[in-house]
Amino acid sequence: MKTDVAIIGGGAIGAALAYHLKMMSPSLGVTVIERDPTYGLASTPRASGGVRRLFSLPENIELSKYSIPFFETFPDTMAVNGEKAEIGFKKGGYIFVVPPSSRDMLKQNYDTELSLGCNVVWLEPDEIKHKFPSMYVGDLGAAVHSPDDGWLDPHSVLMGFRKKAQSLGASFIAEDVVGMTRNGTSVTAATCASGLAVEADHYVNAAGAWAKELCTMLGFKVPIEPLRRFEHYFECEDVIEPLPYLKDPDRLAFRPEGKGYSGGVPTLKEPRGYNFEADHNYFEDVVWPALAHRFPKFERTKCKNTLPGLYDQNDFDGNVIIGPGADGLQNFHMLAGFSGHGLMHAPGCGRAMAELILTGRYETIDLTRFGWQRLVDGTPLPERGII
Ligand SMILES: Cc1cc2nc3c(=O)[nH]c(=O)nc-3n(C[C@H](O)[C@H](O)[C@H](O)COP(=O)(O)OP(=O)(O)OC[C@H]3O[C@@H](n4cnc5c(N)ncnc54)[C@H](O)[C@@H]3O)c2cc1C
Repeated sequence: MKTDVAIIGGGAIGAALAYHLKMMSPSLGVTVIERDPTYGLASTPRASGGVRRLFSLPENIELSKYSIPFFETFPDTMAVNGEKAEIGFKKGGYIFVVPPSSRDMLKQNYDTELSLGCNVVWLEPDEIKHKFPSMYVGDLGAAVHSPDDGWLDPHSVLMGFRKKAQSLGASFIAEDVVGMTRNGTSVTAATCASGLAVEADHYVNAAGAWAKELCTMLGFKVPIEPLRRFEHYFECEDVIEPLPYLKDPDRLAFRPEGKGYSGGVPTLKEPRGYNFEADHNYFEDVVWPALAHRFPKFERTKCKNTLPGLYDQNDFDGNVIIGPGADGLQNFHMLAGFSGHGLMHAPGCGRAMAELILTGRYETIDLTRFGWQRLVDGTPLPERGII
């Protein structure tokens, strides 16, 4: 079959791109190749759903500034036949808390956020305590609170984008890409397990944690690795004041969810690989001590569920690789390596990638620095501080 743009991977990222392409160019042929329409192992439905403006790089802050308001109007924007696409967006806020040794770093990031127009608030330890009395602040140097951030339901975001893109004419085919053919600097076909060959003017690698497999098929390596991370659901026996989504220096990251809380402690020490085994000791051994330290009321907590999922971890610098140029290929675009930020940036990155394909340049947010060239130059562009 022939199409204009073939997107390989139909998670939040691929579906968001399909939506933007069809909105910007209604007659464009857009085919999303997604091998598992149930999204059984995909990262999107396993995500925590946090959306925040708290970053150090202007690109990530701008992506959030585009994406979070997009999520706020998502139910109406993505409505199909009058049916709203609810995503349960909760504007509960976000807070980053740091030790005294990281105060200067947090202050620099805060200044960048302020300069880009974010509504963020600097809190000294006594102010943190006043706002969140259950929190232990004895070892903290400061915090930044972002009251307009929050969390949402990742699966609903994915389905909203998918259904809307389909209603605009994008086609999603349940096929598994097992081979890619190249001719010099062009990709000429994606071959599926069924034998179907998809020919396209542009190919987009939106395969998330599996992105490196497509690159291997094309004969080159990419530093994006599957990194297992657990999302735990837990409850607290004691009453705690309403909390925002919190991140602390121990990489503890959690938020309220229903009667309890959802979160975990991601670690970069985890061996890379497609590992979906749940380690039921991890909560007890790693998460609980961090929780009970930060909130003594969590001494009495119960973990009710542990769900493993994969980050598409960019081991080069922890940020997305977007656009053409990988191994000299001009019509093969990377859109992976989000390293834990993909859901919140799906609207912005989908938009940016669509602009690049349709007009050859970024119009809304300049993501040039997130392109392949930084790998060629050996110049990583990591986030500074909590990631
Ligand atoms: C526990 C956990 C918590 C997270 N928390 C957050 C958070 O709070 N906020 C946030 O923004 N992000 C979070 N993330 C990260 C977020 O989930 C990802 O960045 C985002 O979902 C990536 O979307 P995606 O579409 O690229 O990947 P996916 O959703 O994994 O989609 C990729 C799709 O590609 C398909 N595919 C792969 N290879 C092929 C092939 N060869 N042929 C056909 N189809 C193929 C797969 O079936 C899959 O459906 C979290 C992730 C985890 C695991």
